[in-house]
Amino acid sequence: MKKYIFGNLKMHFNLKQTEEYLENFLPKVESSKNEIVLCPSFVNLMFTGQKLTSTKVLLGAQNVASEASGAYTGEVSASMLKSVGATYVLVGHSERKKYFLEKNETINKKIQECLGQGLKVVLCVGESKYERANKKHKQSLEKQLCECLKGLYDNELKNIIIAYEPIYSIGSGVLPKAKEVEEAVSYIRSVIQAEFSEKTASSLKILYGGSVNAENVKTFAGIKGVNGLLVGGASIKPDEFAKVCNI
Ligand code: PEP
Repeated sequence: MKKYIFGNLKMHFNLKQTEEYLENFLPKVESSKNEIVLCPSFVNLMFTGQKLTSTKVLLGAQNVASEASGAYTGEVSASMLKSVGATYVLVGHSERKKYFLEKNETINKKIQECLGQGLKVVLCVGESKYERANKKHKQSLEKQLCECLKGLYDNELKNIIIAYEPIYSIGSGVLPKAKEVEEAVSYIRSVIQAEFSEKTASSLKILYGGSVNAENVKTFAGIKGVNGLLVGGASIKPDEFAKVCNI
């Protein structure tokens, strides 16, 4: 079955490096059956979008403003992202929460902005090491899901993908057990069922993210209930990311 593979290029690559990356990466994934989405930095979005037009690879952004327009210096709106060809937006990444103090209420507004512009959302949720060690991970996931998705209609969930990303695993090489991921993904589905509907929960796409690379990709992509992967560090290496995309 088709998998959804997102590359979060984070704050890497200037324009020239982006061009080199795309020249190297795109031919390697030409025949992939998976849905591949590249999420470059804001300044590289337009250029990347133009290079992707003749391919099946889609464009995603790493962040979005919580307001539609106005005096918000340094921000980029959902409508701007749409206008340069973005299909997806990553929202609520743990690095945004950690370094930019993003709160669930703001994330909720960002989601509403994206949906209003016809953009699809990848909502990142995950527990900390402390929460996992103290068996508070379910409580944490439920709070994030309920607060971030507050006020959304059931039919809007078809444009939302959830990325389950245990925070301690992001960029660290520390991997959760496959069983833990399976349980967390199943729990996420149960929260969505309770808040929305059974139909929505069963068709919901859920990604795993956290230190995925070419060596461990089969393990994580093969976990029951996992529909795809959100890849950070390994996505900036074109050969390695192509291997991940071609599973
Ligand atoms: C991420 O940025 O969402 C991520 C999962 O990063 P990494 O693959 O580097 O852990």
